[in-house]
Amino acid sequence: MKPIILGSGITACSFLYHFGKKFPGREVINLDSQHLFPSVDKNIKVLVSENGISRGVSSLGDLLLDSFEYFENEFSNFSGVQKVVQQHLCVPDFFDESKFVRRFLSSGTPLRYGPMTAPVFGVSSYCYLINPNIFLPELRNRSRLNIETLGKTITNIEIEKKIELTDLDKHTLVTENLFCGAGPFSKLLPINFLDSCRQERHKIVFGGAWGADVDFGSDSFVLTVNMANLIYDAEFKRVQITGKTVEDYNLIDSPGGLEENHHLFNSIVENLPAFSYGQIISSLRNKGHKRQPYLYHCRKNSLEIVSISGAYKNGYTTAPFMAKSYFNL
Ligand SMILES: Cc1cc2nc3c(=O)[nH]c(=O)nc-3n(C[C@H](O)[C@H](O)[C@H](O)COP(=O)(O)OP(=O)(O)OC[C@H]3O[C@@H](n4cnc5c(N)ncnc54)[C@H](O)[C@@H]3O)c2cc1C
Repeated sequence: MKPIILGSGITACSFLYHFGKKFPGREVINLDSQHLFPSVDKNIKVLVSENGISRGVSSLGDLLLDSFEYFENEFSNFSGVQKVVQQHLCVPDFFDESKFVRRFLSSGTPLRYGPMTAPVFGVSSYCYLINPNIFLPELRNRSRLNIETLGKTITNIEIEKKIELTDLDKHTLVTENLFCGAGPFSKLLPINFLDSCRQERHKIVFGGAWGADVDFGSDSFVLTVNMANLIYDAEFKRVQITGKTVEDYNLIDSPGGLEENHHLFNSIVENLPAFSYGQIISSLRNKGHKRQPYLYHCRKNSLEIVSISGAYKNGYTTAPFMAKSYFNL
């Protein structure tokens, strides 16, 4: 009986990658439902960074650092991943200096990078810039699994003698091993028999990015001010600015929203295209209780359901890290 991996985002691709490492050549079924439950838009450029997190302060911080280190060791030379300069900038009016010093243990030195018009105090480091359109297929290919891909919306899951998944057309798929990477839609999947799920504490939140074509030179880079990022991808000559995640759907015109963050970067960067010139991409995220991603695991006789959810802002490090931890059990 073939194992089923549900989803086509980073969580499901991490399951595929690690499953294939452990059982190369195995046949598996991979399901997703792009028309009803689209995965996080793969056109959004994603970054992976230590972001001034210190070890020993919180369990979430430690998980993020472990996940970052794992990502760096395992995936830094994969297609779709590039190592780039990241400047953490303390821009007055947008980032409180005392908060900056607490995070980076320094008030920084004057930095001027690429299209910046003047030096700004900050700390220089590096991060990894990921193009999901290249990286996710790379994970699938490297899994060396024999993957049967099906577009199906799962509406019910029963666990009796076998695990039975029913789709919208009332067709049933049967398996003994189910791996769920349903992202923000985890809450809608009827897997509530996982007692430990605590899915009711998860929130579906709205996030997005503004992007435009511009030539800022031949090197990719990231400028970060507090939680706002300006990402420049030199290969595609494209700039992206992210906004805060919101529960009230006011993604664009709100404090920390896309337009305000565009205004912030426009004040330190030359020739940034006007806000109205760019395009907005929006996507949902799954915010776990206390922003904590979870690996849920349910075993009954020979049957097994595993789910990673709540990845929120750090799915590209925590999902592969947690999938690895599961398959190392
Ligand atoms: C604007 C934005 C910027 C971000 N920036 C970063 C960043 O810089 N760094 C970082 O690490 N993370 C970032 N994230 C977060 C990261 O993108 C997410 O954590 C990650 O993509 C979630 O992946 P996932 O595979 O868990 O879920 P998704 O990508 O949402 O995939 C869910 C999958 O499950 C399938 N599915 C769901 N329900 C069903 C069903 N009933 N039947 C069949 N299939 C189903 C869907 O079809 C889909 O394929 C960002 C997110 C956003 C929105």
